[in-house]
Amino acid sequence: PEGCTPTAVATVSQYACQRRTTTENNNKIFTDAFEVLAENYEFNELEGPCLAFRRAASVLKSLPAAVRRLEATNNLPCLGEHAKTVIDILQYGCSCDVEKVLSDERYQTLKLFTSVFGVGPKTAEKWYRRGLRSFSEALADPSIQLNRMQQCGFLHYGDISRPVSKAEAQALTNIIDEVIRTITPDAVLALTGGFRRGKEFGHDVDFILTTLELGKEENLLQSVVRKLKKQGLLLFCDYQVSNFDMSKLPCHNFEAMDYFAKCFLILRLEGSLVEGGLHPAEGDCRGWKAVRVDLVSPPMDRYAFALLGWSGSRQFERDLRRFARVERRMLLDNHALYDKTKKEFLAATTEKDIFAHLGVEYIEPWQRNA
Ligand code: ATP
Ligand code: MN
Ligand code: MN
Repeated sequence: PEGCTPTAVATVSQYACQRRTTTENNNKIFTDAFEVLAENYEFNELEGPCLAFRRAASVLKSLPAAVRRLEATNNLPCLGEHAKTVIDILQYGCSCDVEKVLSDERYQTLKLFTSVFGVGPKTAEKWYRRGLRSFSEALADPSIQLNRMQQCGFLHYGDISRPVSKAEAQALTNIIDEVIRTITPDAVLALTGGFRRGKEFGHDVDFILTTLELGKEENLLQSVVRKLKKQGLLLFCDYQVSNFDMSKLPCHNFEAMDYFAKCFLILRLEGSLVEGGLHPAEGDCRGWKAVRVDLVSPPMDRYAFALLGWSGSRQFERDLRRFARVERRMLLDNHALYDKTKKEFLAATTEKDIFAHLGVEYIEPWQRNA
C-alpha cells in the first residue's frame, strides 16, 4: 500500500558515470557472456542491441555482489531485455545464445582477424567474405595488400596479443619520462587509460604528454618519437597531426576520434628493465618484448578534458557524454564542455571541475571501470 512500502533497495543509476565500478567484477560469468553477444552484434553492425548488452554488462560490473537469482535484477536499469541470458546462466551455467555465437565461424574469424593491430571490423569482414579463415590464408592471398600498421601487427602479433603488466607500464613510464626531460624541463607526463584505473593488465599503455607553456607542446610528440627511434626502441609509429580547432562545438558522437596530436606506437621494451614483468615464450630468450603504446598531446588548457577522456573506461566515457547531453543539455568530448542553454564553453583545469559543471559526484579513476 502507498506510503508504507519500505524502499530499502538502493537504486542503481542508468548512467555509468553515477556508479562506482572498481576492477573487482563479481558478475564476470554474466558480463563475459554479454560481451560476446555485444561483440557479435557489433560485427553485424547492429549498434542498438550491441550498446544495450554493453550497458547491461556495465550495470552488473558495478554490483557489490554476485547475482544469484533473477529477482535480484528486477530493480536494475538496462537489464530488462537480457533476462533470458541471465536465466540460462543461472540455471545451466552457460547461455545457449552465447554458445551458438562462440561456435559460429563468422564470429570466430572476425574475432581472430580483429585481434591483429591495424585490422578493424571492416577489413576483417572483407577478408571473411573473400573466404579467408586463418592468418596463413590471409597472408598467402595475393589480392590482399597489408598496410604498414597491419604488417607490424602480424610481425609482432605474439608479443602484442599478450597482456601488458603494471610493471611493464611502469618501465615504459620511466623511459618516456627520461626522454621528455631531455627535451624540455616543463614537460608534463600522465599515465592514463586502464592503468590509471588501477588495472593489473592492459592491451596497451596510454600516456598524455604536454608542456606547461601553451603552444610549446606542438613539436613535443615528434621530438619524443625521434629520440625513441634514436635509442632503437621504436618498432612502429603512426603519427597523427593535431587538427584541433577550439571554436568547434564538442562532438557528441563518442566513437569519433579527438583532434589532438597523437601517435600509436609499438615500442621495444627490454626485459632487463622489468623484474618478473616479461614472460618470454618457451625457447624464446630474446630478452625484449614489443608493446603497444598510445601517446596523446593536448594543449595544457585542455589537459583536464583530455585526461578525463583518455582515462576511460569506454562505457564510462559514453555515459558521461550521454548524461551531459540528455540530463544537462551540455556537450562533452575530449576537448571541451559546452552548455547549450547558456551558449557558452565551461572551462576546467581539473577533472573535478568537469564533474562539478555536470553536477555529478566526483568518481575516482579506479572507480571508472564501468
Ligand atoms: P586496455 O587495457 O584494453 O588498453 P583501456 O581502457 O586503456 O583498456 P584503450 O583502448 O587503451 O582502453 O583506451 C583508453 C581510453 O582512450 C578510452 O577511454 C578511449 O575513450 C580513449 N581512446 C582510445 N583511442 C582513442 C582515439 N583514437 N581517440 C580518442 N580517444 C581514444
Ligand atoms: Mn589502454
Ligand atoms: Mn589505447
